[in-house]
Amino acid sequence: MSAVGISNVAKYYGRLAALADVSLTIQDGEFFGLLGPSGGGKTTLLRSIAGFVEPDRGEITIAGKTVSNIPINKRDIGMMFQNYALFPHLTVAENIGFGLSVRHRPKSEIAERVRHLLELVRLSGFEARKPKQMSGGQQQRIALARALSTNPKVLLLDEPLGALDKKLREEMQFELKQIQREVGITTVFVTHDQEEALTLSDRIAIMNKGGVEQIGSPREIYERPRTAFAASFLGTANFFEGVVSGRSDGLTRIELPDGQAIFTTDEAPAGAKVTAAVRPEKLLAGPPRPEAPQGRINTIQGRVTAEVFTGNSVTYKVDAGDRTVTVFVQNRTDERFGPNQAIALTWEAFHTILVAA
Ligand code: ADP
Ligand code: MG
Repeated sequence: MSAVGISNVAKYYGRLAALADVSLTIQDGEFFGLLGPSGGGKTTLLRSIAGFVEPDRGEITIAGKTVSNIPINKRDIGMMFQNYALFPHLTVAENIGFGLSVRHRPKSEIAERVRHLLELVRLSGFEARKPKQMSGGQQQRIALARALSTNPKVLLLDEPLGALDKKLREEMQFELKQIQREVGITTVFVTHDQEEALTLSDRIAIMNKGGVEQIGSPREIYERPRTAFAASFLGTANFFEGVVSGRSDGLTRIELPDGQAIFTTDEAPAGAKVTAAVRPEKLLAGPPRPEAPQGRINTIQGRVTAEVFTGNSVTYKVDAGDRTVTVFVQNRTDERFGPNQAIALTWEAFHTILVAA
């Protein structure tokens, strides 16, 4: 049984579709990332699951049950939002136990649960402190413990680490993932940060303009993006636009406007206008190779226009015909390409991905 089911859910604000017929299924125990730019509909979807937003259409289920008529506090969810503050006047223990107190659970049960949760988030010994006396990262862990206190079926997290600085955020990502695994709780996590989504998620839905562009594992979406938007939102992509000029030996030939041609193993009918995406690390930079592309290896010629050294790799911008191509070169040898140097870029036809524009 799926933990959360979203079926044709739509939500309009006036004529704006904050959610336009979204359907997806989240499995039991899964860490599911909603990734997309600001305004994409991520928060609206999360708040619809929680019950703060009432969709205009569609059905949402939690553990197989329709939730449309179930109030927020009966939906069996835990929540943690960026601006979902702790109660400043309550102690750490009281904050964590709050949800259980309002449910009138016995004091001994609350104390035991709080003790367990403090251990889980590695804050044993801090129960009597006030939130103000804790660091930003510690406050996040308290908020997480509070979200887990009632043992909910689903944990909903809306950019919970957004306010933390980079280093602390990375630490918290690691901890969050560990705690999620330990508890085994189904988690829906909203972020606009691609690295965060890649690091944490079992699967990701890329959201844009109220719709889902693609759902898949981080690797699936990265290696086989279906749309230009997905390709460029998750990672960096070079795009080649051209016209299909035939297929043979399992390769589709794409003629570029500047007369060069590239090949892909993806299929498309002759004459079709297509967009192909190639990841910068799939490209090899080398000395110019005037000969035509051979077999499964693509070759295009270009000239280096910029070089950025980033330690473990070098990013080159290469002027190739009517486009600038980005290339990541591992810092493995002394080989360097200077400004304006003529080079050839080669890559496997298999790494040329046809995407919807
Ligand atoms: P995200 O979380 O991906 O940034 P949101 O779900 O917050 O996106 O918003 C999706 C779209 O819906 C945005 O264009 C936003 O301005 C609009 N929106 C969200 N909530 C409201 C609201 N209460 N009233 C009007 N418009 C809203
Ligand atoms: Mg949001």
